[in-house]
Amino acid sequence: MSSSGQRNPLNAKVSTGEDIDEQRLKYVFYASSLFGGIVILGFALSHRHSDNLALKISLFAASFSVFLAFVYVYISKNMRAGVAVAIAVITSLIIALVITGGHENTGLHWVYPLLFVQFIFLGAYRGFIYSLLLLTTLSAILAKPELVPAEYSPAEISRALAAVATLVLLCFVSEYYRHRSHQDISSQHTAKLVEAVTDPLTGLTNRRFLDAFYFPDCHRDADRHFPLSVILCDVDHFKAINDENGHATGDKVLQRVARLLSDNIRSNDVVSRVGGEEFLILAQRADLATGTAIAEKLREKIEQLDFRDLNKGITSSFGVATCERFDQLNQSIKLADTRMYEAKRKGRNCVVGG
Ligand code: GH3
Ligand code: MG
Ligand code: MG
Repeated sequence: MSSSGQRNPLNAKVSTGEDIDEQRLKYVFYASSLFGGIVILGFALSHRHSDNLALKISLFAASFSVFLAFVYVYISKNMRAGVAVAIAVITSLIIALVITGGHENTGLHWVYPLLFVQFIFLGAYRGFIYSLLLLTTLSAILAKPELVPAEYSPAEISRALAAVATLVLLCFVSEYYRHRSHQDISSQHTAKLVEAVTDPLTGLTNRRFLDAFYFPDCHRDADRHFPLSVILCDVDHFKAINDENGHATGDKVLQRVARLLSDNIRSNDVVSRVGGEEFLILAQRADLATGTAIAEKLREKIEQLDFRDLNKGITSSFGVATCERFDQLNQSIKLADTRMYEAKRKGRNCVVGG
């Protein structure tokens, strides 16, 4: 990788592993809240004629709250609030089931799915803390069985607590390593992506970056980009620089020019190396006059560059075009190219902006 000062091209434009994990959580939330809501509703309906009014009301209220959390997340896309409500409701319901015994003292069985839910949505550390709190609460409740309405045998209580503790440990280890491997894969993926869209000689973005990330971004967020000025810069007589000074010196010239361009564009603008000694600058919210002024400033700075390795300075020719809409983008790139060749015909070291 070069020493060029180009900013990270993936800045806010690339879908990373974090987005993919958010998606995973969202779908798991939809599936589990829908399934959980249906299961609770099933039990609520099967108990509709029961004398246990508290159980009936809690089951209906819990299934309604879980469905509500599903609908809320679906509409608002705010996972945090939905998850908090769903976990609070389900935890309260399950603790109530443990205390009352639920249907024929089967309340303890529902602690197991709750542990999974806690680890999936809260992650390894928070899931572990919440699960320990749950385990402590259960131990406190079950320490004096005579004080709760449920009737569990001592063996049942001790086995249930041991099973819960085992499950907490297994869930923690599994979620911890899942998260770690996900992070490793995600950072490897990002590094490969950066490599694929970066020119190795100059460190600038390449044409692939524009096609895969920048142009789609222009399409998505037109107001932020248009009018967009397309500025094409081509170093003059670069073949002669190579021939007279050697390819390695030619490479250094390209690196210096690349650094100069990226250091002198505005923070939201982008410069890509699109050919051997050709650079494309995309200046957002810049009309033709602004784009031409940017090109003129860059042309002067390149002309003023001081190369110790060369016996003379270098110059460059610029073509500028501006587009108002996304569907004019390709046409503008072609026009900037035509204008750059016009600058060459005019004697080079100049800007043609229409
Ligand atoms: P003009 O003023 O008309 O643009 O002339 P030019 O010599 O700059 O243009 P031409 O297209 O004839 O030559 C471009 C040269 O750039 C030819 C090629 O060897 C050289 N080049 C392309 N990529 C690299 C590179 O990565 N490193 C070096 N050192 N030279 C390169
Ligand atoms: Mg050239
Ligand atoms: Mg060229």
